Amino acid sequence: MTISSLAASIAESPTLRMNEEAELLRQRGEPVIHLGIGEPKNRAPINAILNSAAKLNTGNIKYSPTDGIPSLKKAIIAYTEENYDKVVEPENIIVTSGAKQAIYNILYTLLNPQDEIIILAPYWVSYPEIARMVYGTPVFVTPEDGSLHPRMEDIIESVSSSTKAIIVNSPNNPSGLVFKEEFIKEIVEFCEKKQIYLIMDDIYHKLVFDGKKAASCYKFAQGEINESRVISVNGVSKLYGMTGFRIGWAIAPSRLVRVMTNIQAQTTSCASVILQAAAEGALTGMQSIVENLRLTIQNNRDIIMRELRSFNGVKTTEPDGAFYCFPDFRAYEQDSVKLSEFLLKKALVVTVPGKEFGMEGRLRLSFSGSVNDLVEGVARMKWALDPSSPNEIYIGDKKITRDWL
Ligand code: PMP
Repeated sequence: MTISSLAASIAESPTLRMNEEAELLRQRGEPVIHLGIGEPKNRAPINAILNSAAKLNTGNIKYSPTDGIPSLKKAIIAYTEENYDKVVEPENIIVTSGAKQAIYNILYTLLNPQDEIIILAPYWVSYPEIARMVYGTPVFVTPEDGSLHPRMEDIIESVSSSTKAIIVNSPNNPSGLVFKEEFIKEIVEFCEKKQIYLIMDDIYHKLVFDGKKAASCYKFAQGEINESRVISVNGVSKLYGMTGFRIGWAIAPSRLVRVMTNIQAQTTSCASVILQAAAEGALTGMQSIVENLRLTIQNNRDIIMRELRSFNGVKTTEPDGAFYCFPDFRAYEQDSVKLSEFLLKKALVVTVPGKEFGMEGRLRLSFSGSVNDLVEGVARMKWALDPSSPNEIYIGDKKITRDWL
């Protein structure tokens, strides 16, 4: 049997792989702490459950229009107006099976083979793989000053005549940074001037701390949406803690939405109507759930920062949003894959290596889990790495002896 070279070249999802490894260890009774996954612990919003149950109860579960059920699109229009102060039409929206599929549809629509897409490091692991899946070429831009905030001068230097799009994610996975409003303004204006598409992955846009706000790309876009170069991506996975419902959407000029709809029609036909009903329930139900989640996550951020600050040698930038931090462990180890594997084996703590996000020497730690796990997880990491810690500890009733990296 032969496998296409493109398919064989697509990397497995490191976060999903870490989940599976952690699950296997858990099934063997190992007390694993999961700081790897970006998934809030809350129950699904009651309105999401009721709306999807009501749909299921009708027994009338059929295909929906490929680009989404009209009542969900109406809820997305209201959401966009309320959160972005932007009026869009149903033909500017495509509902997808998760934001991930929205990004796939967008890149499939925009990129010819070898066309370039600029990806800002540190980046979400799936962007380069999705770009490669549609024969595009990812071009990585890393801040030259060693920081985690992208810089316009680095981006401008990387743009070529083959650049079709730039993808921006703020609040950012994995750094938790919310990009400065000035940067969003400059990049929107730059893309419009250069006729490059700007894809704003806004999946975490309401999970921002300390009274800050993520800048809206629409604030700086000129003209009507159908003439615009800005495409935004959103969904219910993160803000409502509904990762398993798999509903996301893109907002784009209608001519692009039409092409994305054709792609979706030939791949998945449409997102499930039951799950679309759930997303509609979440968007039209009580929004206090998002604020409660935000406050819980902000408290978790404070706790993990407190623990990390007392971790000798570890340097971390305080996240302003999402549920990740991206500390620098180079004082202990440069090779993040080796470090992450060591921590899983010796301290039973799941982390994701920085290398997967395009930056070595760092680990992504998610603080979407419980406070106990955050405190215990960092304590175990300190034990495993700090030379002054005791040689043996008990994790539950399991005795663990320290090894060196
Ligand atoms: N974009 C970013 C930056 C993400 O972190 C994720 C999920 N980890 C997604 C998109 C995909 O979200 P969804 O579950 O809606 O596919």
